[in-house]
Amino acid sequence: MNIQTLCILGSTGSIGKSTLDVVSRHPELYQLHSLTAFSNVELMAQQCIEFNPAFAVMVDPIGAKALAQQLSGVSCTTEVLSGVEALSQVSAAAEVDTVMAAIVGAAGLLPTLAAVEAGKKILLANKEALVMTGSLFIDKVRRHGASLLPIDSEHNAIFQCLPQQMQQDMITSDTHHTRQGIEKILLTGSGGPFLTKPLNEFADITPAQAVAHPNWSMGQKISVDSATMMNKGLEYIEACVMFDLKSDHIDVVIHPQSVIHSMVQYIDGSVLAQMGNPDMRTPIAHALAYPERITSGVEPLDFFKAKDFTFAKPDFNRYPNLKLAMEACAEGQGATTLLNAANEITVAAFLAGQIGFTDISRINALCLDKGSDIAANSLESILAIDQQTRRVTEQLIKTGGRL
Ligand code: NAD
Ligand code: MG
Repeated sequence: MNIQTLCILGSTGSIGKSTLDVVSRHPELYQLHSLTAFSNVELMAQQCIEFNPAFAVMVDPIGAKALAQQLSGVSCTTEVLSGVEALSQVSAAAEVDTVMAAIVGAAGLLPTLAAVEAGKKILLANKEALVMTGSLFIDKVRRHGASLLPIDSEHNAIFQCLPQQMQQDMITSDTHHTRQGIEKILLTGSGGPFLTKPLNEFADITPAQAVAHPNWSMGQKISVDSATMMNKGLEYIEACVMFDLKSDHIDVVIHPQSVIHSMVQYIDGSVLAQMGNPDMRTPIAHALAYPERITSGVEPLDFFKAKDFTFAKPDFNRYPNLKLAMEACAEGQGATTLLNAANEITVAAFLAGQIGFTDISRINALCLDKGSDIAANSLESILAIDQQTRRVTEQLIKTGGRL
């Protein structure tokens, strides 16, 4: 394998840290061009000292100053940049081969698109970017000769279970996917921490309870999304866009043990599953090395220690956000952009103690119902829907649900 030069967008987050863990195991294969973060100076300083990237971007200018100061006293040649534009500057830099898109939320969209437009290999963790822009994102991948590899464990699992020709078509951005005997995608999800909690206790769920996922250790936003199953909803939309599927080709299956990461069902009755311990270093290592394989540090699965292996249908009364996402997916791009923006605001308000757990889906539903008068037919209009929805959602939160 040739040495790959990497940019990691969101290096101080959960996916960013796991990526650096895998990279550190293979110094002969990967070198770092750039690391980026919002404001975590301490961790970014440690990462710069360990990996000595050419650039470190701190979006927050005060953080950037503090980082530059910390690095001036040590033997590290990293240049510190600041501001949002610097994110796109590093992700599109000529020296970069591969970009790990691991910023959370809509904030990751523009630097990821900049990397797409520069024809990079994109390892996509930032599902919100794809949910917001859908076919516009995929069209850009094709037009600019970029390649797209999924990091989300479910999509990475699906990718691994696809016929080889389809994998090739995906990464070389071939427009003509043929179905190649695929009947259905089975998108699995654990059901999160409240799978068996009595529904009448949902209103009292605290942020600390919601972020305590039983199987996965992740950032705060995706942890809350997992508890409401909005995460599965976003993944459902992500799968439709990424694998060019109609919604009746995807079933969501609850699998509380998170050992099967998703499955592909073929017309001859075969079902292929990708399994492993729930640790994001597996999909990260897969996408970094594809089509080769490298070690990831993940413990092998021990079937003799596995207890139950169970499956269930999701209950929409328990997970109204999942239903909203499926409805938005059927409605089209404007609705998915809108729902994503509303959900970012409601989840942040829940984490800040401004609204209750059940208000997240209630306010998301109000926003989706209200809709937008802007047609989602360009990047500008998508960004306008995103901004408009954020304002509407903030207003709904202030007034307890009244506009
Ligand atoms: P996280 O909150 O742990 O990390 C987010 C990273 O983005 C941090 O480095 C942070 O500094 C940066 N960031 C946050 N806001 C920013 C802004 N406004 N501008 C620039 N940078 C900003 O999140 P995470 O759990 O690592 O998730 C990252 C993405 O990966 C999300 O889209 C998530 O849905 C997806 N994902 C995560 C996991 C997981 O296991 N954590 C699994 C699948 C997909
Ligand atoms: Mg996932």
